[in-house]
This record gives sequence, structure tokens and C-alpha cells, in this order.
Amino acid sequence: MNKNVLITGGSRGIGYGIAVELAKAGCNLAINGVRSEESVMEEMKALKIHGTQIVYCRGDVSSESDRNLIIKEALSHFEELHVLVNNAGVAPKERVDVLEMKPVSYDRVMDINLRGPFFLTQKFANLMIENKQKDVGFKGCIINISSVSATTASVMRGEYCVSKAGMGMMTKLFAARLGEYNLPVYEVRPGIIETDMTAQVLESYQKRAEEGLILQRRLGKPEDVGRAVQALIENKIPYATGQVIMIDGGMSIPTL
Ligand code: NAP
Repeated sequence: MNKNVLITGGSRGIGYGIAVELAKAGCNLAINGVRSEESVMEEMKALKIHGTQIVYCRGDVSSESDRNLIIKEALSHFEELHVLVNNAGVAPKERVDVLEMKPVSYDRVMDINLRGPFFLTQKFANLMIENKQKDVGFKGCIINISSVSATTASVMRGEYCVSKAGMGMMTKLFAARLGEYNLPVYEVRPGIIETDMTAQVLESYQKRAEEGLILQRRLGKPEDVGRAVQALIENKIPYATGQVIMIDGGMSIPTL
């Protein structure tokens, strides 16, 4: 698969799981994260083993100047970018009841999880349109990693739920706008995935998963999301722009 892919938050967790599957499938990767290049050296080295080009593009997706730098840096290595995976995201620093949650936490989570990805997508979409106008054979797509929290209300992290619900509409908006160019936009909604983000609650969720909270009786792994993203980029689900792909082991199925 000869695609150049920008993955935000690709240095660990789900984003890294996506990076591993895509590198194995032959993609060149621009990996973004906020940590310094030195601190992600091991991860970059491990990705390079698969033989494709891997570059690290440090930057905060919530900052406009950083978003411009991320794209500039990626384009200085790759002539064109085919795929954007909007994966970078944060949980609130503290879980606080929606009756008490502070605007500063709301703004932080919304800026990183929704406002940043929205304007990065806008920039990326315009670049894809330019590529399509230069070359009708250009193929690309945008994949947004949201969450089951887009529809499941967690009152102790409402700002996170709102950000992911917003990402659902963002997916539909860009899918609608890019339809005429045949550039699909997808939303992947993971359930509970074993990463740093869930480390503190993993034990309790593990038990609840085994008791039936999750139909497949296990928590998800970053590679579960990585394989879904790989399938989308390989155009294995060719007629589904704007749609939600649930990667949650059946967690969102209501049961009696
Ligand atoms: P994680 O392990 O905490 O990793 C977060 C990644 O995002 C890291 O690579 C981090 O970079 C990057 N990041 C954080 N803030 C950033 C910013 N401002 N600009 C650029 N990069 C930033 O999280 P995860 O569990 O893999 O989650 C990845 C995505 O999946 C998030 O959008 C999350 O909401 C979503 N999700 C997670 C779960 C789950 O159960 N884990 C479930 C559903 C959805 P550094 O490494 O440089 O810090």
C-alpha cells in the first residue's frame, strides 16, 4: 500500500497501534505527538523496522502555528499526503461531575479533541482537493478516532463526551463537503482500549468486561483499532463515507 499517512498522537497508545499496522502494510508515516523527538526515538526505530519512511512531526494540534508546522514538516519529507488520521486526544485531567466541571477543563479538552482536529482537517481537506485537481487519480481519505463516549453519557467527564460527539458531526460535515471529490471521511469509535489513557481504570473495566459489559468479554487493544484503520485506507469498505465504524467488542449493543 503506497500511501503517505499523517497520524496525530501516533507516538503511543491507539495512534501507535495504528502506526504499527500501517507500517506493516507498507505506508510511509508522519507521526505527530507533543513530546520531544528524543523521547520517542525507540518507537520511531521500531516502526522503521518495517522498511517504510517514518518521520516525527512534533506539535500541539490545539495550536494553529503548530498545526501549520506539522503539515509543513510532513510535506518536507513526502511530496504529498494521502491520509489524515485524527487520533490525538486527551481525557480531562480530573474526573469532575458536570454540575461542577470548570470552563478551563472544558476548553482544554475541546481545543485538543475537537477544535484542533477540526481546523487540521480543514487544512488537510483543502490540500487533498488541490491534489485531486492536479491529478484526478489522487486517492486519499480522512479518519477520525472518536469514542463510544460520542453517544454514551459519562457525567464525570462530560467535556470528553461533548468533544467526541462533536467529532461525529465534524465527520459528517467533511464527508458531505468532500463527496464531490470522492474523498471519503470516516469515524472510528473505539470502546475501552488498553492504553495510558485508561491505565487507572483498567482493572475495574477488565472485571466488568469479563462479567458481560463487553459482548466479546475482553478489553480492546490498539491493534484492534489499527486493523480497522488499515482496512479503511486499503479501501476494503469502499461505500461508506461519513459512517461510524464501531470497534468496541459489542459494548454499545443494548442487551436485556
Ligand atoms: P494516550 O495513550 O493517552 O495517547 C495520546 C496520544 O495523543 C499521544 O501520542 C500524545 O502525544 C498525543 N497527544 C495528546 N495531546 C496532544 C496534542 N495536544 N497534540 C498532539 N498530540 C497530542 O491515548 P489513547 O488511549 O491512545 O487515545 C488515542 C485517541 O483514542 C484519543 O483521541 C482518545 O480520545 C481515543 N479513544 C481512546 C479510548 C481508550 O479506551 N483508550 C477509547 C476511545 C477513544 P505524546 O505521546 O507526545 O504525549
